[in-house]
Amino acid sequence: MEHDTIAAIATAIGEGGIAIIRVSGPHAISGVDSIFRARKRLIEADSHTVHYGHIVDLATNETVEEVIVTLMRGPRSFTAEDVVEINAHGGVIAVKKVLDQVLQLNDVRAAEPGEFTKRAFLNGRIDLMQAEAVIDLIRSKSDRAFTVARKQAEGTLSNQIKALRQTVIELLAHIEVNIDYPEHDVEEMTSAYIRDQCQSAIEEIERLLKTANEGRILREGLVTAIVGRPNVGKSSLMNILAQENKAIVTDIPGTTRDVIEEFITLNGIPLRLMDTAGIRETSDIVEKIGVERSRDALQGADLILYVLNNNESLQDDDRQLLEQICDRAVIMIINKTDLPAALDLDEVKRYVSEEAIVKMSMLEQKGLTELERTITDLFFSGGLEGGDLTYVSNARHIALLKRAKQSLLDAIQATYAGIPIDVIQIDARLAWESLGEILGDEAGDSLIDQIFSQFCLGK
Ligand code: GDP
Ligand code: ZN
Repeated sequence: MEHDTIAAIATAIGEGGIAIIRVSGPHAISGVDSIFRARKRLIEADSHTVHYGHIVDLATNETVEEVIVTLMRGPRSFTAEDVVEINAHGGVIAVKKVLDQVLQLNDVRAAEPGEFTKRAFLNGRIDLMQAEAVIDLIRSKSDRAFTVARKQAEGTLSNQIKALRQTVIELLAHIEVNIDYPEHDVEEMTSAYIRDQCQSAIEEIERLLKTANEGRILREGLVTAIVGRPNVGKSSLMNILAQENKAIVTDIPGTTRDVIEEFITLNGIPLRLMDTAGIRETSDIVEKIGVERSRDALQGADLILYVLNNNESLQDDDRQLLEQICDRAVIMIINKTDLPAALDLDEVKRYVSEEAIVKMSMLEQKGLTELERTITDLFFSGGLEGGDLTYVSNARHIALLKRAKQSLLDAIQATYAGIPIDVIQIDARLAWESLGEILGDEAGDSLIDQIFSQFCLGK
């Protein structure tokens, strides 16, 4: 497919020391060459070389900016097309001026968001799963989420999906042979083979889906609600966690004074912390809104940090709420252990297991390490360190894996029901297509447009 030539600023706009203007397409090299003054012409230069020179305004013949230009001839470039990257070191104005010159060239237009990555995909250099990982890379808020995205961008997960597809294509080939040579004994064998092959594909899909929850947590953060009666130390806990772990995002818009959200990374696990107004029955209308919000926050939480005051006995409010949430992922924080104990621990243990109880003192900053460990143990059964960090974390991938699994289950069912083999073939084909859609093989134009529209400009 022949594309036109596109250009955009590829780095974040701002006060950065350097900015890159990326140009990709058949006219990238000749176009930039015509406005670039250097010792050597770009059109004569080798691929993967760097050139110092000046961008000039053709109308006035004046120098616009001193630049360094990198040249990459397709297909050995990010987009698999000819790519020129102009490194300008000036501020916003200088960079815009250079871009203006590039955009004034014949056959060069401004790139749409994500269009460079889209070309890499359309030119077959990366699959859709890898392209989506590029979005995640840009957005990742923690080191670990970044590593997960990078692995996906490199194709680790794609390779696992390809292996899965291989299993299904073997199955399809086998069925094909059987349709061409329909003999009874062959059919018997084929049924057993179909079941085996489907079963092993299903097991692999299930393994991948199991990683989805951990993947989602790493990507989006563990939605964590801090709850408890007033004055037990919820805000103190929130503040300590946020201080110690460098809140990346504070005061996310849309939150009220009742539910405050902070994004932190604890032991490599991203948490979205919500401090909720005290949850209790109330008649005050303003306070009631806060309480309802708190209940909502509680509903959507992956993890509940329930704070109790060591210096107080358990109250009826607590008992009621603990009754409602004891089947959820709860960690019980016994705060104010610097004060004399008045809380009956045995009663607390009726609601949660001993491992889920963490004794802390916000005042003395005690118990944080234990809290971190407890959270890690609760969500990452295999531990966080040893894992290979290949997670399925994208909702689209999860839905397609589930669909593929269902088709394979249907195929197995059909063999038992004595359904003709050419009907079973349809199920196998559906599984093949669902898996292909993950990689972008079967993806329609509108899906592709939708995915790439999430990108920022210049990527
Ligand atoms: P919240 O209403 O649950 O958010 O509780 P706060 O975090 O606002 O704390 C209520 C009061 O308890 C404040 O005066 C805190 O200084 C105090 N406090 C919090 N944690 C501790 C602790 O571990 N020990 C002691 N002695 N006081 C604490
Ligand atoms: Zn508070």
